[in-house]
This record gives sequence, structure tokens and C-alpha cells, in this order.
Amino acid sequence: MKKEIVMMVGPTFVPEKVLKAMNRKSISHRSEEYCKIHGKVVEGLKRIFGTENEVLILTSSGTGAMEAAIQNCFSPGDQVVVPVIGTFSEQFAKMAESHQLKVVRVEFELGEAADVDRVMEYVTEETKGVFVIHNESSTGVTNDLESFGKALEAKNTLLITDSVSGAGGLKMKMDEWKIDVVLCGSQKALMVPAGLSFISLSQKAWKATKSSKLPKYYFDLNKAREFQKINQTPNTPAVYNVFAVEEALNMIFEEGLENVYKRHINNTNRIIEGVRKLGYDIFPKDDRYASKTLTAVYAPGKAKAIVKGLKEQGVIVNTGLSPIEEDVFRVGVMGYVFEEDVGGFIEALAKLS
Ligand SMILES: *Cc1c(COP(=O)(O)O)cnc(C)c1O
Repeated sequence: MKKEIVMMVGPTFVPEKVLKAMNRKSISHRSEEYCKIHGKVVEGLKRIFGTENEVLILTSSGTGAMEAAIQNCFSPGDQVVVPVIGTFSEQFAKMAESHQLKVVRVEFELGEAADVDRVMEYVTEETKGVFVIHNESSTGVTNDLESFGKALEAKNTLLITDSVSGAGGLKMKMDEWKIDVVLCGSQKALMVPAGLSFISLSQKAWKATKSSKLPKYYFDLNKAREFQKINQTPNTPAVYNVFAVEEALNMIFEEGLENVYKRHINNTNRIIEGVRKLGYDIFPKDDRYASKTLTAVYAPGKAKAIVKGLKEQGVIVNTGLSPIEEDVFRVGVMGYVFEEDVGGFIEALAKLS
């Protein structure tokens, strides 16, 4: 039973069953027992990603997988295009620059999604990659990956996507949408503590790794791929998190992936409707691209006080991120969040209004 209503945007609430899955004796990451679990987890993650490609398990937070994507697919001086719609896309751009890539930023107003046609105006023969955040957690906006995939499919450009706050909560069809790299972390929609990230590469992306000249060691994905053949990792993985992911995936597939997506959509729609009834609006400029895993609520000048007031009532949500931290608070429905939690949140918010 929940004592508090936890609707954070990550780390998210870890269900009792998942916690219990970690309450067991330590096993070697080279043991048969481990390899079996690893293999099962990878199969489950493939379903979450919508791919037949390998999904590699890295021991890092989501940011590590972002770095792995850059280190393995690119070389110094490569030109990449990054649509910037908020904090996490800006972080991706900075990370690319720190690896000596030539970054072309395409800036959008905060609260907007990346317009594919406008981004494509900057994509040339020279462009080696386009970095798109699936679900921008700072503004609560979901980008249209399918359209990016269509626009880039015939080009020699990789579509690199960060789905840290998407996969497992939002529909993700890596193969069908022609995405070259998908990555996510354990502590958002997968309702597992932070510590693991997951990354999958298309055949086109694996080919690019062969000519990549950036330094890589811990995140050498070709090495990881070799170990994956025997359901292992090059170094010690966060074994207890792997136990947890196994259980979390069981829970997700028991409920049914489509049902999980629907629950996220329904809960978010209730939040949007509820906050609007109380006189607030959402931060995204158009409902069509408003995220279904978290809602950025627009409360100019009052956001921090609201987060505090909710906490005093046992409802845990997140403040906004710079530069909109005074005006936006964020409510997550990722993972283990149900209708009654949403009801509790709206009730608590009503008391503050
Ligand atoms: C949470 C998040 C990250 C960063 O993940 P860490 O696990 O904190 O490294 C990256 N991108 C997006 C969109 C996120 O929501």
C-alpha cells in the first residue's frame, strides 16, 4: 500500500513486488542463473523498444546511454543536427559538442515540439546524425519520432533518440519507425531504481560504429554486443537492478503493454482535465504533442509553492527545470500510477487553489 502518492518524473515509484525481487542472495554475473535472467530481460526490452535488434544492458543512468550512442556512432568533426526543445535536448547538444562533434542546433520555443520540416532544412549530405528527444521531460512535450524516421530513412544520417522518459510508457516502434538508436533508463516508466540503461542500434547504426573514431572503453558497444551473445556484459552489471527489471517487465506484460500505454494516456488526460478545471493550463502549446508520461503544469510564479503544498499533503511531484522552474511543475504518471493516485493529486491541488 502506498503511504504517499508518488508521481515523480523520475526516479519513479518502485512497486513492492519489484523491491521484493531484489531481496535475494547475491549471484555471480558469470553464473548460468544470471545469464538466464539477462536473456529474459533482453527479450522483454526488445518488446518495449519494438525491435528485433539487440538491446544492450549498460550499468549507468540514462545519460550514460546517451554518451554511449555518441561515442560509438560518430567521429570528431562529424556534423549533427539537434532540435532543441528543452533541457534534455540541450544536454544532448552539449554532450555532442564535448565529444568534438559539430552541432547544428535548431531551436524551438519552450513548450513546442520539434517541427520535422524545419529540422530537415538543416540536414545536408554532411549531416551524420539527428538527435531527437522522444519525450522532453522538462517541458512535457513528445516529439513525433515516426515522422523523423520517415524523413531520414533514405538518407545517410542516423536518427538517434533518447526515450528515457518514453519507452515503457509511450508507444515505441523502433523498427517500424526506422529509428537507428533508441535508449532509455531503468528509473522512469520501467519503475526500477536508477542504475541501468538500455540501448539498441539498427543495422545502419552498427555499420556506423565500424568507422567511429571517438575514444570508447566502458561503453564500447561492439564489446558489449559480443558479451551479449552469451547473455553477459563486459564488466559487472548492476545485478540487483537486473532482478528488478525482470519483475517489472513481468508486471508490464501481465497487464499488457497496450493496456499500460492506455493507462498512461487515461491518467494524463485526467490530470489535464483536472488542472484545467482548477484554472491552470499545461505548458505545452498544443495538446496534440503534450506528453502522456508526464504533465508540465503552467502555474506562473507559483510552481514551487504548489510542489511544497502538495508534499505537505503527501503528494510528491517535481518542480520545473531551469529556466522555467518558477512557472512550471511536473506530474508524472510513469510506471506504477493509477486512477486513484491521480484523484488524490487533483484533490490535493484543489485544496491549494
Ligand atoms: C531522466 C532523463 C534523462 C537522464 O537520465 P539520467 O538517468 O538522470 O541520467 C535523459 N533524458 C530524458 C528525456 C530524461 O527524462
